[in-house]
Parts: sequence; structure tokens; C-alpha cells
Amino acid sequence: MGNNLSVPIKGVINKLSLRDIDIKEKRLFIRADFNVPIDENLNITDDRRIRSTLPTINYAVDEGAKVILASHLGRPKGSTDKRYSLGSAAKRLQRLIKKEVLFLPDCIGPKVEDAVSKMAEGDIILLENLRFHEEETKNSEEFSKSRAKLADYYVNDAFGATHRVHASIVGIPKFLPSVAGFLLLKEIEYLKGAVDNPVRPFVSILGGAKVSGKIGVLENIKSKVDKVIVGGGMAYTFLKAMGYVVGDSLVEEDMLDFAHNIMKKLISNGIKFYLPVDCIIAQSCDHGAETKIVPVQEIPEGWRALDIGPASVKLFTVALSNAKTILWNGPMGVFEIDAFSRGTFAIAHAVADAYALTIVGGGDTDLAVNRAGVSESVSFISTGGGAALELLEGKNLPGLVALTDKK
Ligand code: AMP
Repeated sequence: MGNNLSVPIKGVINKLSLRDIDIKEKRLFIRADFNVPIDENLNITDDRRIRSTLPTINYAVDEGAKVILASHLGRPKGSTDKRYSLGSAAKRLQRLIKKEVLFLPDCIGPKVEDAVSKMAEGDIILLENLRFHEEETKNSEEFSKSRAKLADYYVNDAFGATHRVHASIVGIPKFLPSVAGFLLLKEIEYLKGAVDNPVRPFVSILGGAKVSGKIGVLENIKSKVDKVIVGGGMAYTFLKAMGYVVGDSLVEEDMLDFAHNIMKKLISNGIKFYLPVDCIIAQSCDHGAETKIVPVQEIPEGWRALDIGPASVKLFTVALSNAKTILWNGPMGVFEIDAFSRGTFAIAHAVADAYALTIVGGGDTDLAVNRAGVSESVSFISTGGGAALELLEGKNLPGLVALTDKK
């Protein structure tokens, strides 16, 4: 177990939340994010997103509300496709919550209205995938209005979809008093709270494939962090911008100027900026490829850097040692392949052992932290990839804006 400080920052948003309303006997339309990974036999391979919504569902049931759950799953493109059915999510939820969950085979129509009209206090219904109707992603006003008629209140607990301008995210709240669920609140408190008001020193670790995917985050944190650590594929664009020869490593030529300028800005703001000093190289990104550890100045032509090396792990670990807030987004290497996973896993352990508020930005990093076996030892792992990035970029999430303001 790590020594993380696990207290989020409260009062980050001025929106009503589930605790602010009286929900006894009321019908709640809860937009959840049950967009879970499913294998070819329709088995859920990771149910964290369902588990993360349990505090909201349990609270609503305990308070005597009628719970109407809705979600999307995958990208079925506006028509019914069994591969994207929420049936498996309904079964998993029922097992987790130890209570009957009535799964309806559609999200609109007379059968849905009939089932909702028969609900008693504490009953739970899960509607079929919202995206089986193109009106959902097109943010149709009619679709939103008719879904709103099912309920007395709208609750957003779907952080992972809150950056989408879809009917169930921004459309329904136009027609109902709308509040934040507990997962949504927690995500905002950790992600926004950490960036806007960090306990210092605040260290941000960025990695993943491309600089272009992290421009907004770098721009937003450039005046807020104390240290920035860059690893992963994106490091080699920075190294090339500094004049290094990086062999066949991933480089975004059109990002060289950006990389050069942001480094200059960070350093002139007094922010410490760390890049790898050594790396694991190979001629191809395959299982079983021959690998070498070399300093970053010595990457030969025909070889590419696919992980940070042991000296970089040491350098980054020392840089993290006095941090009080750590925000991590993006792996240090191609961690999906064993030979290039050590750097990412070592940093996962360093983050987990830090005496700090430790926040993992979701997406691939979430998987990496899981595979490193330390997910229980970080303070918070976001359930949203795109939504987390947008929040870290300082953008307003449309689904959050749509909720009812606190008076
Ligand atoms: P992103 O979605 O931008 O966070 O990128 C995540 C992906 O970056 C992962 O799938 C990694 O395999 C990949 N990645 C990390 N390091 C490297 C690297 N040195 N070269 C190429 N790809 C990398």
C-alpha cells in the first residue's frame, strides 16, 4: 500500500448535486457510464465503471427514489446491434448491488413508459443502449424531451461522456432540474481541484504516443505545476527539438516548434522540466525484438526508443520524491509489450509509493497502473479518457455546464 493523501478538493463546482435534492418517491433519470470493455462472448472484462457508479445508485435506492439508469456502450451508429447491448451490464450491476435490475430492451417506446409507471420506491430499471437511436448522438430535442418526461430529476454520473454534446448529456437537462452524481463530483474534485489548486510541489507526468494529444494539457498546466516529467513517445519530439538525433523514434515534425517553445516557457517560469536520459531501443516494436539500453544521445539510425531506461526511472523517481500532488497521464513506453513495459511499471510504483495526492488521468494510464498491480495505492484513477483530458486542458465540460446552478 502507498502513503497517498486521498483527500479531494471540495467545492470545485457550483452545481446542484444529488444530496441537494429530496428524492424520496421521485423518478431519477441517471445517466451512467457503463461503457465497459466486453469480449467476443459479451463478457465484461473490466467492470470498474459500473462499480464507480454504485455510490450514486445505492444512495438513490436507500433514499427511496425510483432509479432509471441509462448509458451508451460503444459506437453502434444509431441502430440496434447485439454486440453493444447493455444486457451484460444489467446482470453485472444486479450481482454487485444485490438487488433486482429490470433490463428493458429499448430506451424509448410504450414498454419503457409502462415499466416506469409501475415502479415502486427503490426499484431499478436499466434502459438499453441510448446510441441504438441516432437521436442520442445528434442531440435531438424531441428525443431529449421524451426521455425527460420519464423522470422528475436528471442525474449525471457519466463522467466519461460528459464532454459529449449528446441528448442524454446536454439535451435532457434542458427539461429537468439536473444534478451531479457522486462519481461526477469526485472526478471534478480530483482532476480540476488538483490542477487549479494543488498542494505543492505539484508534479505532472506526461507520456503516451504523441505531443499533439497533450498540447492543451501542457498549455493549461504551464503556469500551475512545479515540475513536468515527459516520457513515452512524445519525449522524442522534445529531444529532437533540443537538437538530439533520435534514430527512428516517434517524432512529430510539425510539433518541433511547439515543443521548443513550451520548454522555453516552462523553464522561464521556473518549472523544472525532465526528459529521459536513457531508453530501451529496438529495431521493431514487436514481442521478441532484440533490445538495448542506450543514452538518449546514442540512438542509432534504424532503432527506435520504446521505453525509458533505468537511469531515467531513477531521475524521475527522485523528481517525484518530494511531490505533494502528482498528476499522471500517458505511459512511459509501449507497456503493452513486456520488453517495453518496465519503465511504465516502475513509474507506477514510484507514484503509488509517493506521500502525495496521486491522480491518474484515465485511458491507457489506468490500464498500466492496473497491470502494475498498484491501482489500490493511488488516490484516484479517473474513469474518463477524453473527458479527463478536456478537464485537464482547462475546458468546460458541456455536461457539467448543463446542470442546475446552486443558488
Ligand atoms: P496516448 O493515447 O497518446 O496516451 O498514447 C498511449 C500509447 O502510447 C500506448 O499505447 C503506448 O504503447 C504508446 N507509446 C508509449 N511510448 C511510446 C514510444 N516510445 N513509442 C511509441 N509509442 C509509445
